Amino acid sequence: MKVMKFGGASVKNAAAIRHLLDILIHENHENYCLIISAMDKTTNALEELLDEKLSEEKALDAFKEIKDFHYQQAIDLLDGDEGLIEATSYARLFRELKAELLSARLKLAAHPNHSVTFDEQYDRIVSYGEILSTKLVHTFLVSRGQNIEWLYAPKYVITDVNHRNAGVDWENTNKRIADLDQNKNYLSQGFIGSSISGSLTTLGREGSDYSAAIFSYGFNASSMTVWKDVSGIYNADPKLYRGAEVYTGISYEDATEMTYYGAKVIHPKTLRPLYEKQIRLCVKSFLNPALLGTIIDNRRTSNNTPTFIIKENQCLVSLQTKNLDLINEGSISYIYRMLFQLRIRVNVLQISALSFSFSFDYDERRLKEIIANFEVDYFVRYNDHLQMLTVRNYQSDQLSNFYDNYEVLLEQRSRNVVQFVTKNKLNLNDVF
Ligand code: ADP
Ligand code: ASP
Ligand code: MG
Repeated sequence: MKVMKFGGASVKNAAAIRHLLDILIHENHENYCLIISAMDKTTNALEELLDEKLSEEKALDAFKEIKDFHYQQAIDLLDGDEGLIEATSYARLFRELKAELLSARLKLAAHPNHSVTFDEQYDRIVSYGEILSTKLVHTFLVSRGQNIEWLYAPKYVITDVNHRNAGVDWENTNKRIADLDQNKNYLSQGFIGSSISGSLTTLGREGSDYSAAIFSYGFNASSMTVWKDVSGIYNADPKLYRGAEVYTGISYEDATEMTYYGAKVIHPKTLRPLYEKQIRLCVKSFLNPALLGTIIDNRRTSNNTPTFIIKENQCLVSLQTKNLDLINEGSISYIYRMLFQLRIRVNVLQISALSFSFSFDYDERRLKEIIANFEVDYFVRYNDHLQMLTVRNYQSDQLSNFYDNYEVLLEQRSRNVVQFVTKNKLNLNDVF
């Protein structure tokens, strides 16, 4: 079984989906499982429907835009064939989504600023992106003679109830995937799952790569390929850095570190299940499938060339003790436990005698909860709209140029890795 994942950009419209079929035919695998994301920026559009600042009328307008976009792509892709358009179940799905949306907005209005309620409603709404895209791609592929079964991922990917960043229940998930017939072809959704009691969950933004790894693990896949709008993994985002160079191969460890620091080309949780079963991962260009792309497997050794990773939209929080209380093991473990409970992922951390500073991906609700939880014991200060740069295998002589150009609010440095949180927008081309 080969697992192939197509992200939002590779199913962004009817033309892209036709191209997906060409790739599938060209790849000619005996049995395959396709994992597919929501089309283009649909996930962002669905997220916006839940914005409390949006009036109901505006939310319904935005809903209609999503609906019109999907219908337009369906009509184009399926040549206006009414029977096929009906097979996408779009009429039912959009009816359901509208009802879900109105109910979610009522619940959110009743519990404003309650992140657990928000996260639960978020998963119910946002998961439609993947259902809509896979229904369309499936209908199209079947109409073009592919023998392929549509799977509802939440029946197979079983998770805990940590909404918006759910953890996988591997035992149940593996049992269910392993029970599938390996002599068939499948198509399923990335990003979504459900708890054992049936509550819809998502695996974190950009989580479809991880879904593909979960299916690869359950199937004991011979390999997994993710099709991207870039030619592979580079030592920096090629859209941000002119000097970026593509790797022909990298180790599981290097890829894991890069994604941990925020290289968004692959979801950070993807590598672990593949590594455990030694499943090779290929990152390939769907724009230019003839290119070899990047291979990640156990034959690669760690490389020591510099890699650059930018993470945007950071919020740097500083907890300052009151009454000259010192930061110590007790306060650190208290703060960390609280951050864990609030589901804050700390991107960089610095501790001094009287303060504990950390940056996380900005989220208004979570910031309010941080302030509410810590302001009794600490003076809480924060800066938002910041950027974080991580350089692995940095060269010290390159850094002076960096200091000349940027105001650094926080810096962490080990022998191999340096991280900066800065105020002004980073431009790698200016510095490296
Ligand atoms: P998908 O279509 O699967 O969702 P993404 O858009 O999430 O794909 O990931 C591909 C994007 O990741 C590229 O367009 C590129 O801009 C970005 N990217 C960031 N860091 C890197 C890197 N080191 N190598 C390649 N691409 C990178
Ligand atoms: N559609 C989801 C997102 O945009 C998951 C993914 O694309 O990987 O985050
Ligand atoms: Mg993506």
